[in-house]
Amino acid sequence: MRILISGAAGFLGSHLCDRLIKEGHTVIGLDNFITGNPMNLAHLAGNERFSFIKHDVSEYIFAPDKIEAVLHFASPASPNPESPFSYPNLPIQTMKAGALGTHNMLGVAKANAARFLLASTSEIYGDPLEHPQTESYWGHADPIGFRSVYDEAKRFAEALTMAYHRFHGLDTRIVRIFNTYGPRMRLDDGRVVPNFIQQALLGNPISVYGDGAQTRSFCYVDDLIEGIYRLLLSDEHMPVNIGNPSEISIKEFAEKINTKVGNKAGIIYEEDKRLGDDPQRRQPDITRARTILGWEPSTNLDMGLEKTIRYFQGQLGL
Ligand code: NAD
Ligand code: UDP
Repeated sequence: MRILISGAAGFLGSHLCDRLIKEGHTVIGLDNFITGNPMNLAHLAGNERFSFIKHDVSEYIFAPDKIEAVLHFASPASPNPESPFSYPNLPIQTMKAGALGTHNMLGVAKANAARFLLASTSEIYGDPLEHPQTESYWGHADPIGFRSVYDEAKRFAEALTMAYHRFHGLDTRIVRIFNTYGPRMRLDDGRVVPNFIQQALLGNPISVYGDGAQTRSFCYVDDLIEGIYRLLLSDEHMPVNIGNPSEISIKEFAEKINTKVGNKAGIIYEEDKRLGDDPQRRQPDITRARTILGWEPSTNLDMGLEKTIRYFQGQLGL
């Protein structure tokens, strides 16, 4: 297939480019580098099955040749206002990428009668009242909270994707991605994995926001990409959760990273840095992915963290 991917220079987008090229597809990457990094794609320079367009997905997209699949991954993704690369600091761009960007990418898919895949998120469940989260749960999201620019843009993106599917008969897919980590995350995007690993590698105390009782379930990037690739090849039009159901509190996660890195500086608890709508618990129910895609994660947290720590050591020149 000839595949157009927005957000190609980002963490997930760049891994997806690699996987699609490895499977024999031709990939056109699109990105404006607002949170991504050209270095994530540097190894693809000169590859005859890869080309790149520097473009803002919120603006009209001109796609000259026939495209068979369109994957929309462009969006800021970090909630941490401490980082300039986070969605609270890029609020309008985030809403435009989710709304106008999704509309433009759907338009390209429709014009080419191509299949379309939307990168949605566990954030559409908000601070969930149902645990673990199944795809049938409608969520508990604050429309005007700190995270709303992201949550509501993704909820709109899902609704628009289903409208194109139901009204235009477009061949669409929606993946709801749960916290994913691995090499090529930005060290400075403020998400918990790069923050904690960087602090531990530099011998600083790890900054836990609040008391650390909130939970997340971390999926290694290779597992996520496998799930997304299977979804792309499937005929499933309803949303599918992809993530690792192994749940851990943020406090335990900090302790694990300190132990792995051998950091003796401990943890500091920063109550004031926890955002008002920070979800208290998050864990995917992956029954649908198991049943429909025959998918489940195969990398445990220890294995994935070791690979990720090695990557960040390289980034920090350690
Ligand atoms: P990332 O910031 O590394 O990648 C996002 C990419 O999109 C960047 O390269 C950025 O420059 C690009 N981009 C943003 N706005 C753009 C625009 N207007 N035009 C063109 N390019 C634009 O983040 P990521 O973690 O790789 O996330 C990728 C996608 O996956 C996002 O849509 C995000 O919402 C979704 N997602 C990620 C996770 C996760 O745990 N990593 C979880 C849920 C959902
Ligand atoms: N967090 C933290 N310290 C940090 C960064 C994040 O304690 O330095 C917490 C954050 O409050 C949240 C969790 O870690 O409860 C996961 O945050 P992340 O930014 O990775 O994304 P989220 O899963 O909240 O979208």
